[in-house]
Order: sequence, then C-alpha cells, then structure tokens
Amino acid sequence: MSTIQQSAAEKPSVKRDFYHLIINGEKVESSNGGTIKTYNPATGELVANVAKATKEDAENAVQAARQAFDHGKWRKYPVNKRSRVLNKIASIMRSRFNELVELEILDTGKSLSTAQGQVNQAIEDFEFYAGAIVSHGGRVNALPGQFHNYTEKEPVGVCAQIIPWNYPLMMAAWKIAPAIAVGCSIIVKPASLTPLTAIVLGEICLEAGVPAGVVNIVPGSGSEVGNYLVEHELVDKVAFTGSTPIGKNIMARASQTLKRVTLELGGKSPNIVFADCDMEAAVAGSLYGIFYNTGQSCEARSRLYVHEDIYDEFVNKFVEKTKQLRLGNPFDEGTQVGSIIDQNQLDVIDGFVQSAITDGADILAGGKAAVVAGFENGYWYEPTVIANVNHDMKVVKEEIFGPVVVIMKFKDEKEAVKLANDTEFGLGSAIWTKDGARATRVANQIQAGIVMVNCPFSAMPGTPFGGYKQSGFGRELCIETLDLYTETKSIVSYYGSHPLNPLGV
Ligand code: NAD
Ligand code: MN
Repeated sequence: MSTIQQSAAEKPSVKRDFYHLIINGEKVESSNGGTIKTYNPATGELVANVAKATKEDAENAVQAARQAFDHGKWRKYPVNKRSRVLNKIASIMRSRFNELVELEILDTGKSLSTAQGQVNQAIEDFEFYAGAIVSHGGRVNALPGQFHNYTEKEPVGVCAQIIPWNYPLMMAAWKIAPAIAVGCSIIVKPASLTPLTAIVLGEICLEAGVPAGVVNIVPGSGSEVGNYLVEHELVDKVAFTGSTPIGKNIMARASQTLKRVTLELGGKSPNIVFADCDMEAAVAGSLYGIFYNTGQSCEARSRLYVHEDIYDEFVNKFVEKTKQLRLGNPFDEGTQVGSIIDQNQLDVIDGFVQSAITDGADILAGGKAAVVAGFENGYWYEPTVIANVNHDMKVVKEEIFGPVVVIMKFKDEKEAVKLANDTEFGLGSAIWTKDGARATRVANQIQAGIVMVNCPFSAMPGTPFGGYKQSGFGRELCIETLDLYTETKSIVSYYGSHPLNPLGV
C-alpha cells in the first residue's frame, strides 16, 4: 500500500451525501425532488445523490442567466475586476485541490495521477483566462478615405454549455472560464454519470464573487434538460463537448433559433511512428497516447501506424509494456490505468473487440474485461492491442472510447499521411521522428486540429484545442476561444471636415 493510499484511507472522505443544483446563486433541490445516483465505477458503489434538474429547473436557470446578463453587473465590471475573480476561483480550487481530486476519482474511477493532472489543469485554465481577458479586445482597421473603424468585442449573451463524463472538471473549466471571463452568463449541464466536480466548481464561483445567475449548474438528462437548453430562444449560444452524433443533433436543433454553436466532438486520432524515431520515447508516448484516462479520451491516439522497418521491434516492445500496465485502486499512486465509466461503456468496448475478432484481426494484448483484485464489482477492461487490421474494419473506423488500439504497418511517408487522413475525424494526431523536416512536412499535410511531434501532450492552457472534419469546430483552451464567446461590433466614423452627401441632395 502506498503512502498516498494510506493517507486517503486515514483521512475522512470530504464527499457529501447530497449535491444541489445551482440556480440564480442558490443551492436548490430539483423542482420535483428527483435525484441522480452517481456511482464509483471502480467499485460499483454509490457515491452520492445529486439533484436532477427538470425542464422547470432549466427554465429557471435560463431566466436567471438572462436576467444576470441583461440587467446584471458582471459584464459591466471593469475587465481587471473580472480577472481578479477568475484568479480567486483558481486560488480557492487550489486550496480545495485534494477534495476536487477525491471527488473526480470517486465519480469516474480514474487514477490518482490522472485526476491530479486534470484538476491542476482546470485551475490553470482559470489563471490563463484571468490573464488573457485583460488584453482581449477589438482592433483598428485601416480604411481608404476619412473613415475611422474600430471593433469591439461584446459578450455573446447566455450560453448553454453541455459537457461529457470523461473529464468532468476539466471540461467544466474549459467552458466556464472563457465564457465568464468575457462577461457571458452560463448554464452548465454536466453529464449525469459525473456531476460532482462541476457542482463544486459552481459553488466555488459563487464563493469567489461571481454574481448570482451568471453561473448556473443543472445536471440532468441530455435528452430532456440538454435539449431544452439547446432549443430555448433566450439562449444565445451552445457550447457542446461530446459525441459526434449528438453534436450533429444539437447543431440541427440550435439552427432553429440560429444560436452560435461550438462543437468539440469525437476522434480516431492517428499516431505515426517513423523508422528514425527515438524508440524509447515513441513506445512510451504511444502507450500514454492511447491508455491515458483508460482510453476514454477524445484525442486518444487509437490508430497506431508503424514503419515496416521497425514494425516488429516496436510492436514487441509496445505489447510487452501494455501487458505490464497496472490496473488497481485508483487512489494508489502506482495505478496507471483506471476503470471504465460504466457497464454500458464496457459492453461497447468489448463489442468493438469482438467485431475485430470476427473480422479476422489478431489480439496481441488484452481483449477482455479485467478482473482487479478488491475491485470485482467495478468496470475494468484490459489494455488491448489489435493487429492485422485494415481500414474497412469497424474497429479502425469508429471511435471506441476505451483502452483499445489498432496497429498497422506503412512503407513510406506518403502512405502514412494517406492512412492518417483516411477517417471522418480530425482531432488529434502524433508523429514520432528525429527528422525535423519530415515532422514539418507531415504536420502540414495532416487534417487535424492538433499535431503532436515527439510529444504525447496536447491540452495545455494556451494551446488551441479542437477538431477538423467531423471532430467539430471551434477552439478551446486558448485566446481564440474568447472570440467564440463574443460578438464583434464594428464602429465606423467619418472624420472629414465636409459633410458627406452621397446622394447629392
Ligand atoms: P455524449 O455525446 O453522449 O454526451 C455529452 C453530453 O451531452 C452529456 O452531458 C449528455 O447528457 C448530453 N446530451 C445527450 N443527448 C443530448 C441531447 N439530445 N441534447 C443535448 N444534450 C445532450 O458524450 P459522452 O459519452 O458523455 O462523452 C464522450 C464523447 O465526448 C466522445 O465522443 C468524446 O470523443 C467526446 N469528447 C470530445 C472532446 C473534445 O474536446 N473534442 C473532449 C472530451 C470528450
Ligand atoms: Mn459517477
């Protein structure tokens, strides 16, 4: 037993038995008293009951957000004051770091180091936007004639922000921080499976001085509460992170009121290993690329392409290391791979693996649900490596969202690029090579929002994150995000000394 695990066991848990909705600055129960039960997927145990928002609650949240935006003070604050509040949110989060980590682990089954990294990043997001907002603004445009044109950035209004279960706190931070930085009011709908940390973040926003109604948190059903927000005429924008099919549905529904829409959707990201790579780094980085967060990651590098000259050596090393990955108590610092979010997702993952077997692929590692001692009632899947596949197979084409990677061989740079781009998605991608010119050449040709070169990381505050093709549109985590929460107003003024009389009247 590690020291971290012992201290976690000795300390009483900080979790509460019940979590409220946050509407108009108040912690409230559901209008009909309904609750969501949220479970720890590592153990199958109940973690807490959470108020389950109804349409009526969603309506109250929209009205509160509208009122706060149209008549409230938040958007009128001097920008440095909003910036200070964002920094305060970050510092309260830091002071409650261990609580946020514990809740995130209990709600998702992710490993300690994974949760710590994500909580840390969520904090840094608020710090990033606290800095970025003070220099965000319009510009002056050079015009012919005696005209002066400047632009201003105005907050877009009330935003519905719908987020998935794989990074509950990080996704909430990616959404909340830029939106409130520019002065928007928001209604966040966390995933029903993982509502806890978004609720606590909402409470922290209030504590830090965000006025009532600016940040509302309404966990509830996607088809009920999510849809209601997407169709509501008083909502100006929808920011969605989730699966591609639901993203398409949301975009279609949002078109009825011509809402602004940003979509961060699914992926099937390629990971290209050239023969001139640093073998150790490529193996380690490719393992992280797929098995981080138990593969439940939008930018999971789930298609691994290896040059034929090093294929056998690389695959041997990769498979050997895959088999050594430690599944176990998520609170144990030695655990490298956490649990799957629920039985449903476990079945989806196994269905993909079974389809690969039926299609004639070879399972080089894993391939079935894992049994983890002491965690027999949780949902676990063995890190899985599949070879002897081709681009017609479901396991190669579709997003699995689990710890499953497919490996294929390529013969030259041109083929690698062709295979990498042969997908409907375009979120992440990675290249492993010591040839800098090759890295640049390949990066230029890849159709994806993110290219990682000799690097397994992509999501750091300041780095634009988002997709090409059916991985969605819009960029988060960066300066550009602020533009997606603002309208640009263009002000043209004439400074000539003679009156303008264009009709000659
Ligand atoms: P999901 O699409 O099932 O659900 C996402 C959210 O949408 C949830 O809050 C859900 O309740 C809500 N929802 C469901 N139906 C809705 C509807 N009809 N109207 C409005 N809201 C609705 O996705 P998930 O299973 O929670 O998350 C996994 C997916 O998220 C994967 O496809 C993954 O790639 C994607 N993802 C993308 C990014 C990114 O930045 N591109 C990041 C994380 C996850
Ligand atoms: Mn949960």
